[in-house]
Amino acid sequence: MTEAPAVPSDPKLDRLSWGASVPFLAFHLLVGLVFVTGFRWEWALLAVASYAVRMFAITAGYHRYFSHRSFKTSRLVQFLLAWLAQMSLQKGVLWWAAHHRHHHKYSDTPLDVHSPVRRGFWWSHMGWILSRRYDSTNYDAIKDFSRFPELVWLNEHHLVPAITGGLLAWFFGGLPGLVWAAIVPTVLLWHATFTINSLSHVFGSRRYLTADTSRNNFLLALLTFGEGWHNNHHASQSTAKQGWFWWEVDLTFACLRVLSWFGLVWDLRLPRPEAKDAHLHYTPEQRRQLKAESRFGMHLPQRPVRTPEAQPEVGFENPLYAKR
Ligand SMILES: [Zn+2]
Ligand SMILES: [Zn+2]
Repeated sequence: MTEAPAVPSDPKLDRLSWGASVPFLAFHLLVGLVFVTGFRWEWALLAVASYAVRMFAITAGYHRYFSHRSFKTSRLVQFLLAWLAQMSLQKGVLWWAAHHRHHHKYSDTPLDVHSPVRRGFWWSHMGWILSRRYDSTNYDAIKDFSRFPELVWLNEHHLVPAITGGLLAWFFGGLPGLVWAAIVPTVLLWHATFTINSLSHVFGSRRYLTADTSRNNFLLALLTFGEGWHNNHHASQSTAKQGWFWWEVDLTFACLRVLSWFGLVWDLRLPRPEAKDAHLHYTPEQRRQLKAESRFGMHLPQRPVRTPEAQPEVGFENPLYAKR
């Protein structure tokens, strides 16, 4: 088996983009305003609610719906999911989903946008998103959603939902509103989401022999409402449910289930029994491999991580970053 070709090299593209890095750093510094506003329990609850709504929009919307189409919904609800997710300042909906599809296609190969085992922890956690390499949206990778003009508009004006949210927080809550409903939970959301690109390929156990280094991690699943069952997810990407066993808490799926009772979402895809039970049929050698691969750290499996079918298309240099 051959490996995917090396990433086309132009080291300048890997430098931090000032336009992305300065606001990112500024937001972290602004968290210090909690010492100016002081603490109140109702503000902490506001922060939790702001985190929860937007985490749900990221996991159900950006990830399970726009990237993987693991359930169906109406055009209005899809727009609302995109709007709410974009309030988390993680760039546009089509940008996010196109890059995530690319991650699954090339997971842990040199072409992966955020593989910790290839490019290190900090690159996978936030370096890639702050670099200039991945600025643009590959609309070809997300044709199924870029046919909706309202989503393209939202993607091109990706700051609008967050700015609107920030203004509302300021208008209704003044400085404490802005700090506790917008700034603090946004920074927490960033790092919680980023752990799925970094830590969940480094720290946790592996149940399925996927062609990558994805892991299952209970703590990350709690923080990210179910995304921490990342090895399950890489084993079967298009399921709306990522926690497959009763102890695998998946808050996003529980919420999707409730929404489905009201007809707001439907056709939630569940894991096929043969996918869920695949690990029961592993040989002793495969079980040994899984155990070795579950060791903490950034190491590729001994076996090749890609299969020939999963190789990238031929004849391109860097399709992901083509301008529209
Ligand atoms: Zn992954
Ligand atoms: Zn995914």
